[in-house]
Amino acid sequence: MNKKTLQDFKEKLEKQKESLENMLESFAEKDKKVPGDWDTRFPSWNGETGGAALEKAADQVEEYSTLLPIEYNLELRLKNINLALEKIKRGKYGTCEKCQKPITIKRLKVSPEAKFCQKCKE
Ligand SMILES: [Zn+2]
Repeated sequence: MNKKTLQDFKEKLEKQKESLENMLESFAEKDKKVPGDWDTRFPSWNGETGGAALEKAADQVEEYSTLLPIEYNLELRLKNINLALEKIKRGKYGTCEKCQKPITIKRLKVSPEAKFCQKCKE
């Protein structure tokens, strides 16, 4: 892979990283103890009781359980992107982690954070 192509992938990964972090920040908080880990904010409940308040609380719990898998997914993608950026630093980018063969540019264009070549992925 030439320098120009590598630079393009690096920029693409950095942009993705930024937008993933922005998305996560909108409803989750960075875990201070575990680097790279995020926690979905639990909706605040002001302690009110009564039909309307409880209904609202139930809605928020539902929203929370909808957000959890989204958070998990975004976090996973972010982790993979960080790993890919690490690999660029170490000069290992675009190499399959299983068979050590180069991953095709075509595949990297579709998913720049790919860890494995097409063959090993299957
Ligand atoms: Zn492979």
